[in-house]
Amino acid sequence: MIVIPLGVSSATPTAVRHMPSVALWRDGNVYLFDCGENAQMRLLQAGIKRSKVDTIFISHMDGDHVFGLFGLLSTLQLQRRNKELTIVGPQGIKEMIDAVMKATGLEIEFQIKYNELKDDMTHEVVLEDEDFYVEARPMKHTRFCIGYRLQEKDKPGKVDAEKAKEAGITEDEHFKALKAGNDVTLEDGSVVHSADIVGDPRPGESFVYITDTEFCENAVRLSENATILYHEATFGEPLKEKAEDTGHSSAQDAAIVAKTAKVDRLVIGHFSARYSNQFLLLKEARGVFEKTWLAYELRPIFTNPAQEKDIVSPRVEIIDLKEKKAQKPRKTFKPAGNRKGGFKKKRFKRKPENARYYRADSDNNQRGRYNRPYRSTDGDRSKSSPHRPSKPLPITPRTPFDDFDRF
Ligand SMILES: [Zn+2]
Repeated sequence: MIVIPLGVSSATPTAVRHMPSVALWRDGNVYLFDCGENAQMRLLQAGIKRSKVDTIFISHMDGDHVFGLFGLLSTLQLQRRNKELTIVGPQGIKEMIDAVMKATGLEIEFQIKYNELKDDMTHEVVLEDEDFYVEARPMKHTRFCIGYRLQEKDKPGKVDAEKAKEAGITEDEHFKALKAGNDVTLEDGSVVHSADIVGDPRPGESFVYITDTEFCENAVRLSENATILYHEATFGEPLKEKAEDTGHSSAQDAAIVAKTAKVDRLVIGHFSARYSNQFLLLKEARGVFEKTWLAYELRPIFTNPAQEKDIVSPRVEIIDLKEKKAQKPRKTFKPAGNRKGGFKKKRFKRKPENARYYRADSDNNQRGRYNRPYRSTDGDRSKSSPHRPSKPLPITPRTPFDDFDRF
């Protein structure tokens, strides 16, 4: 399965983040979790065909999570969809869609199957297929909100071909029977036991989508041993009170759910617009649960990371600047024309008169390429020193978010 965050903002979009929506690709079908504004554009940009959307799961009826539905339905109609579409969500979702369709004169000709959940539900399997099912539990938000878990059923174990051959199994039918867990009787009367040939069943993968909730017991239950837990992390710890007032989680809350439920990986999203640097939230979450990732829009996350190998390679490396500075070898002067990888050869600049080159390791070279006298900042030359004082690098605050209220 592949998880593709389409929008990771909360409440309002920012210049770089869109409204909440996550696509899950499984076996050629696409399952959409929430459908914020722009979801259909983000699907296109992610390279996902909108016609492949099979089911849309809506967590709750806040506008930021549903406003994309109408546009998407309209597009599907214009594309002459004839496949049925399933929409799972809180009660009232059909009424809302019907009202918009009526007001805008939108006529949908394909079948929409609604599965509306009542606000007193406790646990329900909302979709069941041959090899997976989706269960839902209520979350703890200012209004009825649902968390979802898509769980693949366990797959049968692998057949040990060599052992089967030794036991005298040659026919396909016998292989199938063994794989299904049945014992096979051969023509000579000997019995081949399935358990001897077939390995242990392989556990199915799972994806949990939890958004707009305070920390709650149901979030943990729904996430137990999940392969990927996508959890909202609207605020950081300093705004914990605000998170509680508005029915949201902090990054740490998300990490506590992940840790308690022993998930394989936590992906945090649904960031408040005030965080221009979401790494703050990542740092908080990682303090509790190491295997936390940030949700990046359109950046696919494979439930089986082995499949990801060679497809996506990390482009960003986090470097400790202080360490880098200490390790950085002293620059030696090289004429531009000899530099490796230069785009074009530069003309030699004329050396200033009286300038002298110094060897890199020479004591005299402490002051730079040429023997420039060191000027202190107040311009007093008498304070010249061959050693520059090591000033700490200025740090520009990147997120002055705590002093104003935007959420
Ligand atoms: Zn939200």
